[in-house]
Amino acid sequence: MVKIEYLTPATPEERKRYYKEEWNIKQVPDFISNTIQDREFGFDHVGRGPNDRYKVFRNPDFLRRFLKVRTPFAAYSSVAFYDKPMRRDGWKGAELVFDVDAKDIPVRTCECDGVCEICLNEAKEIVSGILDTLNGDLGLKNIHVVYSGRGYHVRCLDEGVMGTDSDVRSQIVKYIAGVDVPENEYSLDFEKVSYEHFVIPFGYPKVFTDRIKYSILHLNDKVELDDVNKKLLKDVLKYRNLIETDQWGVFKGNIGPQRYKKVIKGIASLNMGLVDAKVSIDLKRILRLPSSLHSMVSMKCTEVKNIETFDPFKEAVPKFVYERK
Ligand SMILES: [Zn+2]
Repeated sequence: MVKIEYLTPATPEERKRYYKEEWNIKQVPDFISNTIQDREFGFDHVGRGPNDRYKVFRNPDFLRRFLKVRTPFAAYSSVAFYDKPMRRDGWKGAELVFDVDAKDIPVRTCECDGVCEICLNEAKEIVSGILDTLNGDLGLKNIHVVYSGRGYHVRCLDEGVMGTDSDVRSQIVKYIAGVDVPENEYSLDFEKVSYEHFVIPFGYPKVFTDRIKYSILHLNDKVELDDVNKKLLKDVLKYRNLIETDQWGVFKGNIGPQRYKKVIKGIASLNMGLVDAKVSIDLKRILRLPSSLHSMVSMKCTEVKNIETFDPFKEAVPKFVYERK
């Protein structure tokens, strides 16, 4: 296997080579090129954040020329559509987005301080869960996944969500991440619903169960959970193999019903970190432009066609990385 020096910054020389030799306007996804005149663009030319904002391009060819000449450190476009994007005026709607950054996943099994193959894979698993929920529970169809360089953006352009406000978006995030403990569980008698263990334990919606399960299976003994002491955490780790096989009732029996509630609550609030909620509720956010270079880590921000088979280390590594000495 070729040793790739990924995840180290690109030099200005490498950036130039990338935009002049490798980057192509066709790599900008249609969902952006087709709406280019409605979006605000932002650029970071030196690596201190996107302070060249309010840029507009009447068509993809203007964007092409700009990128070829300026070879920016980073490029972004708005999730919002505007009548007058050069002033961020006349807001017409915004994509509903979910930002899963591998660096910020609440429980990581790797010990890297940036991002690595392990946590990027965990981010991918979380994205798969989000896609299932958006499609299966919310019926959304116009969904695009973008590998950002350090994680994933899930971007929905369905008409039904484009016009929603921050409050609605914040509720959707909580639902998707499994943050709000559904109230019905506590009102249900354990005995009465025991036959349901194998499918949806205690009447929780499937999405909530899935997120709790995911997080319990990824816990380690260093995690801090609200109201869960070391002894309880130890017991959770001891019995979590029961969760793996969906024996929630047996798990609850071993932990004890009161302590079980504490565990569920603790995990639910931990789940808030699965997606960056600030990104989802911001109606004027700019997001890294697919096809652009993430110069900090020398990877290409790339639209993902198939999340199951996508491998960032195969599909998002620019050529210059292979040619480094
Ligand atoms: Zn890692």
